Amino acid sequence: MAEIGFIGLGNMGGPMAANLVKAGHGVKGYDIGADALKTAEKNGIKVVGSVEEAAQGVETVITMLPAGEHVHEVYTGEGGVLSVTREGAHLIDCSTIDVASARAVHEAAEDEGLEMLDAPVSGGVAGAEAGQLTFMVGGSEAAFNAAKPLFDIMGKAAVHAGPAGNGQVAKACNNMILGISMLAISEAFTLAEKQGLDPQKLFDISSQASGMCWAMLNHNPVPGIVETAASNRDYKPGFAAGMMLKDLRLAQDAALNAGCATPMGAEAAALYTIFCNSGYADKDYSGVYKMLRGEWF
Ligand code: NAD
Repeated sequence: MAEIGFIGLGNMGGPMAANLVKAGHGVKGYDIGADALKTAEKNGIKVVGSVEEAAQGVETVITMLPAGEHVHEVYTGEGGVLSVTREGAHLIDCSTIDVASARAVHEAAEDEGLEMLDAPVSGGVAGAEAGQLTFMVGGSEAAFNAAKPLFDIMGKAAVHAGPAGNGQVAKACNNMILGISMLAISEAFTLAEKQGLDPQKLFDISSQASGMCWAMLNHNPVPGIVETAASNRDYKPGFAAGMMLKDLRLAQDAALNAGCATPMGAEAAALYTIFCNSGYADKDYSGVYKMLRGEWF
């Protein structure tokens, strides 16, 4: 069983680390938040007082942090992961961050003779708790293969996406598809209803026709159509609109850096900005359906 240092024990990192403990691994954990540490301790994680202590002497360091600047600081800052990690250790960053930061931290790790993986996830808090996440992983194949047993504990699938940063590219592109799809569904279901077509009938047709997509089947924004959808719980997330906006902005950032035109992604980012700025960042991302209907909450 491996000795693991886990840094960032929030909504996602907390349950991921708990699943590693349940599988028999020894996990040292650190977070700047006292509540996260309390919960972690209850879940059998050995709580320590700094990044340095969490990373020292372990075979694997996993991080699950809010954004690029936190990842930079935790890896390359004073007393950071790279300054204390032992030779041959595996470094896995599961945070969703911008591609440029992910590649910069990979490079810094390489300069210290360490291999790193960017391994953002899909599946949300429910997926983290159930050990059912999907990992999209950038880095060397050898590092991916070495980390695979840990991905298998925390998730249901792990795909090697190619070299450093490609995990973040995959995440940004996947969630751009999801955000654009949600807006398309919201528009189409609203138009159907305004033209006298029962939304249930549109679902019965489109879910078996060429307009079908994952968001329509699983996160349908019209209440009463898909029982498990957030639309039936007053749009309680689920996947918060603020998180979707973060991911859409990361996609725009990547598009800008690559000189790539993503006009639908840009439009989706603008619409989610309006939704979040109107006070609904904590609603499920499918709540944009209400905004497009001019109903709000
Ligand atoms: P969160 O805010 O609940 O957890 C992040 C944790 O990092 C917090 O507990 C915070 O205190 C800690 N932290 C921040 N700076 C730190 C530092 N310097 N040292 C140690 N700890 C530090 O966020 P989350 O929902 O767990 O999300 C984590 C990452 O996963 C984000 O990048 C997010 O985009 C991504 N993600 C989240 C979801 C989701 O549904 N919540 C789904 C997929 C991906």
